Amino acid sequence: MSNTPSHEHNHSHSHSHDHNNPDDPLYNSHGEHPYQPDSEDTPYEHHQVMAEAVGELLIEKGVITADELRGMIELIDSKSPAEGTRVIARAWTDPEFKARVMVNVNDAAEELGIDPGTIPIRAVENTDSVHNVIVCTLCSCYPRLLIGVPPDWYKSRSYRSRVVHEPRTVLKEFGTEISLETEVCVHDSTADLRYMVIPKRPDGTEGMNEDELAALVTRDSMIGVTTL
Ligand code: FE
Repeated sequence: MSNTPSHEHNHSHSHSHDHNNPDDPLYNSHGEHPYQPDSEDTPYEHHQVMAEAVGELLIEKGVITADELRGMIELIDSKSPAEGTRVIARAWTDPEFKARVMVNVNDAAEELGIDPGTIPIRAVENTDSVHNVIVCTLCSCYPRLLIGVPPDWYKSRSYRSRVVHEPRTVLKEFGTEISLETEVCVHDSTADLRYMVIPKRPDGTEGMNEDELAALVTRDSMIGVTTL
């Protein structure tokens, strides 16, 4: 097929999906799926070029192999917020474990069979007097190996700049209102230190087991833009 951006459909070719089936996720009112550019159609941004170049150089110079690079990407993509929620549920139910989390999240996570990587992660605990939020003002540093890849908005310039200057306003946009008696504390992550928020355990959860508690914890509450 020619590389035309219009992606015209003459419907003589066979597609496995049915354009006239409203249940088909690619269906639209014109009977065609919406145009989606190939990745090659969008110009590379500076940091994408840099990432490609550094990756190629590391492989060319024998520092890492292509398979090791691929494996690391696969490992990062395999992580999900569920691992972080297990750490929090255990911390809520076991004060001694929580004390260890507050000293060293990485070591504490390993106790649960989670490999959070070697970059230090610091836990910041929400209480009645302080509500914590994390950001990386410079780029997108995030405890990926513990709670998965960050949401797109975490990497946006808007979030990165505004949450520092007007955290309560940003939190409100997420539907989160923090009492004026509670201090809002924003933590700026770096390449060498990442943060994870320990949300407040909700009232009325005394009878819940660890799995039930973990299910209450959301990704956004571990970033601090929600309370749970
Ligand atoms: Fe960053």
